[in-house]
Amino acid sequence: MSHQFQKTNLKPWEIELVNKFPLIFLEKSPDVLCYTKDLPDDARVNLRFGFEHGAGWSKLISELAQTGTELVTHLRAQGIDASIHGFICKEKFGHLTWQGNSKLPPFFQKLWYSYVSGIESQSSHTCEVTGEYGTTYRLKNGKPSWNRTLCKEEAQKQGYDPIP
Ligand SMILES: [Zn+2]
Repeated sequence: MSHQFQKTNLKPWEIELVNKFPLIFLEKSPDVLCYTKDLPDDARVNLRFGFEHGAGWSKLISELAQTGTELVTHLRAQGIDASIHGFICKEKFGHLTWQGNSKLPPFFQKLWYSYVSGIESQSSHTCEVTGEYGTTYRLKNGKPSWNRTLCKEEAQKQGYDPIP
């Protein structure tokens, strides 16, 4: 297969994050195993291309993965077959997008979706580069898909304009 789902693709801050939350990022997932038959267990990660966004959002991911881990651990302790696995975690139109597979009882599923959506919303106020307070900026004459959420300093450095 190609280079998908391989731990060697990850930067040091990404490795740190997936190792901190193995239930979410490293636990064997049937959806990923079918693409990674030839990879040894310690070389595989559930993320297709790692974290496809800047390190500034690592605190948002950390919060999301911490809550997901607690939820799954709590449910499993009660004998419930639960899991949350992250597959795609990327920047899109300047905002964080999380795609994963969650196996949870319906009520918890609902709570989890709502929680994830809250974390995604927080990315529109979090600089993708530094993690400081930010807003969504655009490039002059740039497509909306080039928008990025940055702090003022980073936006100026990279030549972005505020969205009027
Ligand atoms: Zn910044």
